[in-house]
Amino acid sequence: MHIQPIVKETEQELLKIELYALHLHSPQQASSFIKLISIHFPLTDLSHLKRIKKTTELLDDNKNCINLYGLIAKTSDVKKEDLVNFLLQNFNNDNGQNFDSDYFNQRIIKISASKYPATDKKKFDIWKTLWPMNFHNDYQKHDIPLNDIEIQEIFSIMNKLKNLSVELNSSKNVGLIYDPKKKLTTLQTDLNSLTDSHPLNHCILQLINASAKNYVIKLQKSKVGDKRKGLDCESYLLKDMDVFVLKEPCIMCSMALVHSRVSRIFYVENTEEGGLEGLLKVHLVPSLNHHYRAFKLIYD
Ligand SMILES: [Zn+2]
Repeated sequence: MHIQPIVKETEQELLKIELYALHLHSPQQASSFIKLISIHFPLTDLSHLKRIKKTTELLDDNKNCINLYGLIAKTSDVKKEDLVNFLLQNFNNDNGQNFDSDYFNQRIIKISASKYPATDKKKFDIWKTLWPMNFHNDYQKHDIPLNDIEIQEIFSIMNKLKNLSVELNSSKNVGLIYDPKKKLTTLQTDLNSLTDSHPLNHCILQLINASAKNYVIKLQKSKVGDKRKGLDCESYLLKDMDVFVLKEPCIMCSMALVHSRVSRIFYVENTEEGGLEGLLKVHLVPSLNHHYRAFKLIYD
């Protein structure tokens, strides 16, 4: 038995990827460019890259010329002529100016960027010179190994959850919320809630809902202090909490865990539509403002 941390694919060396970028002619154009392009070309697996690059060029008359470039798509995903047609149809109305295909043909250029996010500041400082990137220094926390006592504790909690699943006689996902500081389970899947398979009834969302209800009850019972102050302090429902589930959560539930600021998630079985190792690693998306740790328990 061992526990596998779900970490980002990273490279020690800079690995480049080629993309198309549009040389933009004004900040206003950059703003409408981002709105349009982020919907049609989301670049989900390259979310460590910024959409806009700004460079300053010193001209002969000693004046600075600012150049803006907007990232469009990987050259492997789309042909330049298709991009030109797309932009002609969708991006041709900037302050009454009309652009023709020559305009876009000249302004769509190939650029190189880092395929992977930088996991330390030193790499970040070098790799971002190619194309601007986001950086979160909390990647280092993903490398901290679990100690033997933690591993024993984690397997023991997961075994309780497995027993609960057997007791329920259901193939549906079940889970619990665990407070690692107090060493206690604060919530577990409601026995009566497994009948409905609606996505909003997914195991993780049920646990978050239940924890929100408990929080409201706790607030109502609290007679001392300013309620608003209490809300500010504890408004993140799963701060410092661990979540245990039998199956890897979907992308929606993985995002709900970001919003509730969970600390760690442990699961046994990965799923095709999973949000932690299946379709996406939501807990490691650089542009999100919280990154929890995810672990898969492997029973050898
Ligand atoms: Zn879900």
